[in-house]
Amino acid sequence: MTDNSGSASGAVFDIRRFSVHDGEGIRTTVFLKGCPLRCRWCQNPEGLESRFKPVWLSGACIHCGVCTKIEAAVRPGSALPELTPRAWDAVMDACPAKALVWDGRIMTVDEVITEVAKDAAFFAYGGGLTLSGGEPLAQPGFALALLEKARGAGFHTAIETSLFAPAEVVESAVALCDTIIADCKIFDEARHIEATGQSNGIILQNLRLLLTERYARKVLIRTPLIPAFTADEENIAAISAFVSGLYKDVDYELLNYNPLGAGKYPLTGREYYFTENPKPFTAEETRRFKDVARKNGITKEVLYDRVYA
Ligand code: SF4
Repeated sequence: MTDNSGSASGAVFDIRRFSVHDGEGIRTTVFLKGCPLRCRWCQNPEGLESRFKPVWLSGACIHCGVCTKIEAAVRPGSALPELTPRAWDAVMDACPAKALVWDGRIMTVDEVITEVAKDAAFFAYGGGLTLSGGEPLAQPGFALALLEKARGAGFHTAIETSLFAPAEVVESAVALCDTIIADCKIFDEARHIEATGQSNGIILQNLRLLLTERYARKVLIRTPLIPAFTADEENIAAISAFVSGLYKDVDYELLNYNPLGAGKYPLTGREYYFTENPKPFTAEETRRFKDVARKNGITKEVLYDRVYA
């Protein structure tokens, strides 16, 4: 299944350096475009669609009007019109401030690994490549080729995944990863469909596959704490009982709500679900969720107390 030629290519929307939250040590995180889920709280809305869209960067725009001269339908600050990719390329090339850009680009495996290798000196202190998204396993050939090439270069490899992917793809990824960070957002199927647009059946089945003696030590299960969707005692209890029942020493993370994702929505032309952006949970609130997890079988719970300005 893996194309390790280095010339395999895929859609990437970001490469973020010096991340300390996407696995062990200092990570270079590569974000692959496209996701089969539509979580109402998605923090990376630019990664949802697999096709590229133009984005207007208001802070960079110098309001020179060049774009409108080239395409009359382009008005900075208004909804961006449907143009052919070639027409958008012409507008973007002409913009002197680079305020009109695509929300991602096609890269080959070799191009990505060359970028990641620039950070290799930092990996000596722990760290490596993390694939994220979107859902990285929605581009299985590209994701697996990246992991294989990274391993060949001696990099530690990790993946952040919703596990909404065929079991054989998940198993191929596990074989090429040192760490799997797997989301389990909502246990109740009807609530999962309502919040993400998809059943969680395939996700729970993949969790049964991962949380076996063979793979479980590589796996961190993560539940993002999202007000009104995931962050309630019943859901945390059900997930904790399920994953600890599969593997009693499971690593489990409760990830506090990140309000910063809301700021990306105006760039993507999407509306954020929360009209009033919630605050992250307080230390006391998160402690209560941890207690629920512990009472339901989790012995190695982790809570990253991230600070969001
Ligand atoms: S060409 Fe670029 S900088 Fe000039 S108005 Fe258009 S988007 Fe803004």
